[in-house]
Amino acid sequence: MTQYGFICFYRQVLQPLDLTRILILLVLATTVFQWSALDRIKAATLDETIRVAIVKSAAEVTVSGDGLLVTNEAGSPLVMSFPAKVKFLKNGLLVEGRRFQRLSFSASSAVYVNNKPYRGLAELSVTDKGILVVNQLPLEEYLVGLINCEISSAWPIEAVKAQAIIARTYALNRKKSRMLSTYHLESSVVDQVYEGSLIEDSRARRAVSETEGEVLTYGGVIIQAFYHSSCGGRTESSENIWGISIPYLKGVECQYCQTSPAGTAWACKLFLKEIEERLLLAGHKVSGLSEIKPGAVNSRGRLKQVILMTSHGSSTISGEQFRKAIGYSSIKSTRFVVNNSNNEISFSGSGNGHGVGLCQWGAKQRALDGFGCGEILSYYYPGTQLKKLSDIR
Ligand SMILES: [Zn+2]
Repeated sequence: MTQYGFICFYRQVLQPLDLTRILILLVLATTVFQWSALDRIKAATLDETIRVAIVKSAAEVTVSGDGLLVTNEAGSPLVMSFPAKVKFLKNGLLVEGRRFQRLSFSASSAVYVNNKPYRGLAELSVTDKGILVVNQLPLEEYLVGLINCEISSAWPIEAVKAQAIIARTYALNRKKSRMLSTYHLESSVVDQVYEGSLIEDSRARRAVSETEGEVLTYGGVIIQAFYHSSCGGRTESSENIWGISIPYLKGVECQYCQTSPAGTAWACKLFLKEIEERLLLAGHKVSGLSEIKPGAVNSRGRLKQVILMTSHGSSTISGEQFRKAIGYSSIKSTRFVVNNSNNEISFSGSGNGHGVGLCQWGAKQRALDGFGCGEILSYYYPGTQLKKLSDIR
């Protein structure tokens, strides 16, 4: 058979039949490859875990739940009755007369720590000041629990999705910088407020699911996604708060949160004596406090300084130091005016929080105005890009 004849045979016999088969196989192979790639992306996202400190310096912790699995520091399973009361000892944890260095509790549904449900596992260990409980769980589950602690999942869904993305971004940035620490995040306003799975709901889950694995980046790197409740008119630059200039945290105009006075305006009355006590407790040497005066205002409308008038003269402290000393729940922002009346001082201000990054109440209004979560985020963090976690690793 000549070469030509072979080619003819190949064309006549193989082409009509096998070409169709080859095409089908190619389509199948491409589909399978795409499925496995999607699975890999999903797995990469779902495999990501986070460690959150949920109880610190406790003398006693109660753990309960259905079908709990308990292991000690060596990973050996333990038999224990529930609810288990774990007590702090200087060099260990005491439970049912036995002493341990570390205890891990996990369940298919939830582990209850001091009657609050947590997904994943709860790890109890000893510190100098008491029992530390760390909740380790998949990052995406953590986000579902967090949404209603930070905002309301009943807000427009694009604002809830924006919250899910920045919380994920913030958490991963913290995880990277605290990789060697016992835990990555606090469960309070120090990092992100988190109450376990107590107040998670279907809308929070939807927002997390629809943004699965999405993070904000700058130059291909996960950003420091600071955010706050409301800015009161203009978001703050990182430089003014922490002395560090960050290109995507310069501050932007935000009239949007002003449409929600309930989330923005605040007032507080304190006696001079009370203010003096709080300042002293925070380590500021002050005595005979007679008046509080606002100092210079920065370009974002916030007080750079607060002047403390005393019987011995006057001194100044930064607006942020003043807020921290008096209490974040009393002085909600450094955008305030002061009215001295005898021994009582009235503060009235706008904005809640440090003012850096996304303004949550502003994001809510932007979502109501029809903006998508990507547009909301690029407004508050200029120059950043939204990316899938799997694309930057
Ligand atoms: Zn705002």
